[in-house]
Amino acid sequence: MKIDRRSFLSLGIGVTAGTTLSPLPWKLTDDLSIWTQMWPWTPVPKDGEVSYVHSVCTLCPGGCGISVRKVADRAVKIEGMDGYPGNDGSACPLGLSGLQLLYGPTAIQSPLKRVGERGAGKWQKISWEAAIAEVAEKIGRLREDGKAHTLGCITDSDCGTVPELFKRFLTAFGSPNFMRTPSCADTYEMTLKLMHGTDASPGFDVENANFVLSFGSGIIEGWGTPGRMFRAHSAWKDKKVKVVQAEPRLSNTAAKAGQWLPISPGTEGILALGLAHVIIKENLYDKNFVDNYSFGFEDWKDSTGKVCKGFKSVVTDRYTPGYVSGITGIDSGDIEALAREFAGASSPLAICGRGQGSVPGSIHEFMAVHALNALMGNLNRAGGVSAVQRADYITWPEPEPDRVAQNSLKNERADGAGSARYPYTKSLLTRLPAAINSAEESPIQALFVANANPCYTLPDTEQVREAFAKIPLIVSFAAHMNETAEMADIILPDLGHLERYEDVPTPFGMNTPMVGLARPVVSPRKGARHVGDALLLLAKQMGGSIAKAFPWTGYEDCLKKTMGKSWTGLTENGFVAKADYKPAGWDAAFATPSKKFQFMSEACGHEGKTGLGAVAAEGDPKAYPLVLIPYDSMRLSGGAVANTPFLTKTVADTVLTGKEAWAEVNPKTGGKLGLAEGVHATLTTPKGSVRVRVHFSNGMMPGMIAMPRGLGHTAPDAYLAGKGINLNALVGPVADPTSGLDAAWGIRANLVIA
Ligand code: SF4
Repeated sequence: MKIDRRSFLSLGIGVTAGTTLSPLPWKLTDDLSIWTQMWPWTPVPKDGEVSYVHSVCTLCPGGCGISVRKVADRAVKIEGMDGYPGNDGSACPLGLSGLQLLYGPTAIQSPLKRVGERGAGKWQKISWEAAIAEVAEKIGRLREDGKAHTLGCITDSDCGTVPELFKRFLTAFGSPNFMRTPSCADTYEMTLKLMHGTDASPGFDVENANFVLSFGSGIIEGWGTPGRMFRAHSAWKDKKVKVVQAEPRLSNTAAKAGQWLPISPGTEGILALGLAHVIIKENLYDKNFVDNYSFGFEDWKDSTGKVCKGFKSVVTDRYTPGYVSGITGIDSGDIEALAREFAGASSPLAICGRGQGSVPGSIHEFMAVHALNALMGNLNRAGGVSAVQRADYITWPEPEPDRVAQNSLKNERADGAGSARYPYTKSLLTRLPAAINSAEESPIQALFVANANPCYTLPDTEQVREAFAKIPLIVSFAAHMNETAEMADIILPDLGHLERYEDVPTPFGMNTPMVGLARPVVSPRKGARHVGDALLLLAKQMGGSIAKAFPWTGYEDCLKKTMGKSWTGLTENGFVAKADYKPAGWDAAFATPSKKFQFMSEACGHEGKTGLGAVAAEGDPKAYPLVLIPYDSMRLSGGAVANTPFLTKTVADTVLTGKEAWAEVNPKTGGKLGLAEGVHATLTTPKGSVRVRVHFSNGMMPGMIAMPRGLGHTAPDAYLAGKGINLNALVGPVADPTSGLDAAWGIRANLVIA
């Protein structure tokens, strides 16, 4: 059967609908299975016994349960796993096409040592023994020179045994520089820390919400746990749950919402405060919650005795519908009507984190949105938001750092997280490149990178590459060649997602603590090793207290012992979850100094200290009269794992034609600029200039340009390299004044006919 590009153009979100929702996805997964077997590098299965293996997809943070069909030892088809918490039988197109990664040519087959210029792609194969010995010798010299703190590590997450092993290695070695790739989870976690006082991630009871107000979240474009969100979205339609989507571009989510509110990007938090204004003025809020379980709603005193304005005064004094309308571009009548509708629902849910949530965002925006949930008392109850504690199954004894490590651990982090300026922020990876580039000697002298591709995914990629070029030793644990692995000195190839064990703790947005088990579906590549095993080998080679901190014989031993009694449930069901879990009641839910929900406080940064304003886009409006905004799509993977060939085939012709990228603009904007559909134009931002083709879309707000994330790879992948433009090369980070996290939602730009 011939499956060409156009055959898949109608796919997109349809596949995510799940294999249980309609016969169409069954057909498509069959097509994909057949299509996958047609690639020259895919082994064609011989006859053999058919079996299914349950696992968890780790290609994105969504953590969907998957069921892989095998013929003998060959995987031939991936489906969503029925009954898995959240996705329950569904999977996205990237997950479904994961076999193309397993059998694709980009998988790294043995340890590699760079022999040419950095980034030139010249490698020499070396043995594992030689690679581990070289890394140990080089980082060992850092300890001898009193620079143990200059060892850094970047991974995609800070939860689960693999990130914990890296943290442990760094602690035993003597470095505080563990960093994770940024996402909206950072800002949500900080929001919960400031407003609830807890170290937790947000859980959204999307199944029971009966009014959903989304401030730009791509509900059916990969936000949260994508399979779960799509299922919830389908259910909302049946239950007539209204969805309101505020964002400047008519995304799939906006197109399928009950109401689309085109909003000036970056002003979403202001809209939330405008809605709060109406809700407070008209006494539509939950008085029981606000009066008895919250702090900072009324005026309050800080630690110096100074009286500070409370949330009510701030919001009612300034954020009138008229004022908010002038900033957001949304009609004041619509603001008032939306506030009443939101407050009139019994379980109204407000969410934020733009697109797939891969950019952290402004802390005040997140706090303003979360305050709406609090005003309605929709916390820790059905249909609301709860603070979900981190899974507590990793109970290893603390490592015992030697004297070198103890002294070295006293150093500040290179990215500024946890410093006096950013005391509540755990990781500030987007600040690292500037910190390196502005220093004479890089504050990171050796860097481990695992499950991450910062040279592609971080904003201002040129600055990132420049910074990486200054790091004397980069060790990549990539399973597949990518832009960051290309910058490495040594690659210790990890096992692919269908070749390895790994625990997958509660994904972002899930409202029940759980852990899933990714497990080997096929025999692993001979030359690759589990990242956990590589780290254990390295620790052993280092010896002393570092080796002592890793008492396991290998990663599998570590994982089994860590999971203890849960191992049986994990292997039998693919996950364990606290079925009887219930969030704490309001009287026990908050661990703030007041033991109440905090609308405002010193820690929150009350108005006057940091302000509750919109974060401005980078660039001079005179030189750059337009605004470029990135968007996310289920057809494009913008994260650490790049698109599979299948996924790239689904991309529409008005997004990518051959190698040419398209930029979307409103016809009115295009007309004013003398542009026409399909013409070539030069798109310029303060970060760089690229050639694009112009696509007119009435779904764009005038004055905006939109382009997708996930294109413009440079790594050696014949199906991806050189196709389109990496948006991160055109957008820089903008530090949030309170958190230091990247609050950029776009950048000022210009578009002129080429
Ligand atoms: S949403 Fe993420 S975890 Fe789920 S199937 Fe897709 S890539 Fe895998």
